[in-house]
Amino acid sequence: MSPETLKYLLIGVVSFGFLLEKILSYLNIQRPVPKVPETLGQYLSSEKLLEAKAYQRENYNFGLVTGIFSFALTILFIYMGWFGWIDDWIGNYISNPLFHSVAFFALIFIGSDLISLPFDYYSTFVIEEKYGFNKTSLGTFFSDKLKGYILSLIVGGSLLLVFLWLIHQMGPHFWWIFWAVAAVFMVLVNLFYTAWILPLFNKLTPLEDGELKQKIIHYAQSVSFPLENILVMDGSKRSAKANAFFSGFGKRKKVVLYDTLLEQHPPDELVAVLAHEVGHYKKKHIILGMLASVLQVGILLFLLSQFIFSENMSLALGGSGWSAQLNIIGFTMLFSPISMIIGIGMNWLSRKNEFEADAFAKETFEGKPLAEALKTLSVKTLSNINPHPWYVFVNYSHPPLLQRLEKLEN
Ligand SMILES: [Zn+2]
Repeated sequence: MSPETLKYLLIGVVSFGFLLEKILSYLNIQRPVPKVPETLGQYLSSEKLLEAKAYQRENYNFGLVTGIFSFALTILFIYMGWFGWIDDWIGNYISNPLFHSVAFFALIFIGSDLISLPFDYYSTFVIEEKYGFNKTSLGTFFSDKLKGYILSLIVGGSLLLVFLWLIHQMGPHFWWIFWAVAAVFMVLVNLFYTAWILPLFNKLTPLEDGELKQKIIHYAQSVSFPLENILVMDGSKRSAKANAFFSGFGKRKKVVLYDTLLEQHPPDELVAVLAHEVGHYKKKHIILGMLASVLQVGILLFLLSQFIFSENMSLALGGSGWSAQLNIIGFTMLFSPISMIIGIGMNWLSRKNEFEADAFAKETFEGKPLAEALKTLSVKTLSNINPHPWYVFVNYSHPPLLQRLEKLEN
């Protein structure tokens, strides 16, 4: 394919992805505000539903503005050949091909992060603030940014260095060697996330002794699931929204409960939430999810290896000759429909797993307190109880609330 054809193909693919995403969001926001369903009668009022709609509409408008902005910028960069221009400009100062590649990605990363900074700020301090979710101080916001930079520099930087070194040194074999490196890295991150990464941003404390801990231990024994590590995280430092999750496996497995979750739910509901998380573990979702992610990375690396040594993509992006970094950027955009299809498959699997974990909690504990916990969570976060099915199909990693309640309550 000639560079010219490739260039227009890229513009076509990026435009298609953008339009598809915006059409789905539009269909979703056009859904009417429903009547309060019977099962949510005690939790929800029509005023609350209108407030939720206003919140969703505000996020929709915000997504439209940021989406159009980044779409226009991407098209402009492709059409004008600015990626190539930046790459050549760096080449004037750095002759080592490896450092040239690293400098290119660093510049693109910092540039795009600075551009998105005002948008992040607006989302946190204007939209989330208006609906009472934001608990982040300016200090936390900027220290998060700084820590994020340092972490990306150390972790992302070293991974990138290995990746680019393999491309420059190993030629077509780079993909499976880096695949192995990435797989090991993903397992390590999963194992040590709560020990090394999370404490950089949050304070984790073991759950205090008391009624809740007793109930949790009692439940854990009843399903023969040894659970020593239950940690409480100060999620309230950033947001009023609550959550719980599992991390690690084997001896390193830990459950993390947000302090906001503890404040909002009685012990029975919390045990039910935990039973759901244990369900994910027992049904092997954690390990299978991990394998699926590793497989996904492998597929994308293999595809990349088939194209990365061709010169035409670099020329299409405005470069003056073959450039690993331009090709990576180009093929990431070109493969975005494939990434999207994989993403839809992963979401489908995840929604199926959520039902299974709910069923596990219902079998081994009780369905009712889990249903109640989900109702409180969903109403508090102003979540959409009437999403468009196509939007759900593409974007939802969890089934919509009413579908989960139906299975839990029948
Ligand atoms: Zn789940």
